Amino acid sequence: EHPVSFRETWAEISLGAVSHNAALFKSNIKERCRLMAVVKANGYGHGAIEVAQAALAAGADYLGVAILDEALKLRTAGVEQPILVLGYTPPFAVETAVRNRVALTVFSEPVLDEMIACTERLHMHADMHLKIDTGMTRIGVATNAEALTLAQKALSSTFVRLEGLFTHFADADRPDSSYTRRQYERFSAVVQFLESHHIHVPIKHCCNSAAAMLYPEMHEDMIRVGIALYGLHPSAAVQHPDFPLRQAMQLKTKIAALKNVPKDQPVSYGCTYIPDRDIVTATIPIGYADGLSRQMSNKGYAIIRSQRVPIIGKVCMDQAMLNVTNVADVQVGDEVILFGGSEDAEDAFISIDEVAAHMNTINYEVVCLIGSRVPRVCV
Ligand code: PLP
Repeated sequence: EHPVSFRETWAEISLGAVSHNAALFKSNIKERCRLMAVVKANGYGHGAIEVAQAALAAGADYLGVAILDEALKLRTAGVEQPILVLGYTPPFAVETAVRNRVALTVFSEPVLDEMIACTERLHMHADMHLKIDTGMTRIGVATNAEALTLAQKALSSTFVRLEGLFTHFADADRPDSSYTRRQYERFSAVVQFLESHHIHVPIKHCCNSAAAMLYPEMHEDMIRVGIALYGLHPSAAVQHPDFPLRQAMQLKTKIAALKNVPKDQPVSYGCTYIPDRDIVTATIPIGYADGLSRQMSNKGYAIIRSQRVPIIGKVCMDQAMLNVTNVADVQVGDEVILFGGSEDAEDAFISIDEVAAHMNTINYEVVCLIGSRVPRVCV
């Protein structure tokens, strides 16, 4: 039988870190508050099935995905717990969701009409979460009247259950809390308006990782934790002593070739790196097709034998080069860490935030970009 992969490049996923992070949130929320583990985009690149199972074992109550396809993968893997599709589900996909007991986000009549028709046809119950747009300006109904219309329609049907009411914050990860507070007030106003019409929704939720960490007073009946589940901070502004997160992913490879490169001999495409003295280079079998961004060219670092070494020249599609002149006894086959390492030793640890800074982006994108041909190895 073939192994999963014949390459020596892998993303090492600490499920212990995921459990630790999930447990931190469980211990920082009220008893009646649920924890949704957000595992969309293949668990932010970490592997949705393994992360979902680890988070559920650590006490998560609900799973969140972006699209129905992601929910079906979890169901196929045998995950029985509640799953909510947080994004849009087109009407033609509703029946598959209902058959697979996947809860849907609803914010328009055609989707709700299809849910009602389909549940009656199948004689099956289905859960919906009504999405309110309180200022993200993405999906959701914006007015009390629209919320009431959809809620009443759902309640008048036999098989659709109005299980949830939710909104999403646009600015919870910045130090200024004013926009988040305004969104929360708007959300509370919708809740009160529905209650004045005797509509009580069991699971009201609005907090992402940042809001869950910063605003316990907004937790309501469930928090939706994505980025922090993976041990990453939503932003530099969100570092909370109650949440000592552990980074779950490390990106690793092994040296494929070593070269003695004389002074003035260019390295890689475009000849952008020209050594000003004789050097030793290591070629590593990982490139931008794997998520090692081309923006790391002549900028980023790696760790070999607990030592930081620079990436030199342009990162190629499948390979990249390092300057390993100063690494004593360096060998083909030595392990190379692109991010991760030992968090206790500053020089021997590369945070995903550091990589994100080089790439001019946020940690979310760094982990999502790890390519599908990189095997995820859970430890
Ligand atoms: N809820 C919704 C609706 C989302 O779209 C997301 C992710 O973008 C999350 C929760 C999780 O956010 P975070 O990863 O910042 O915790």
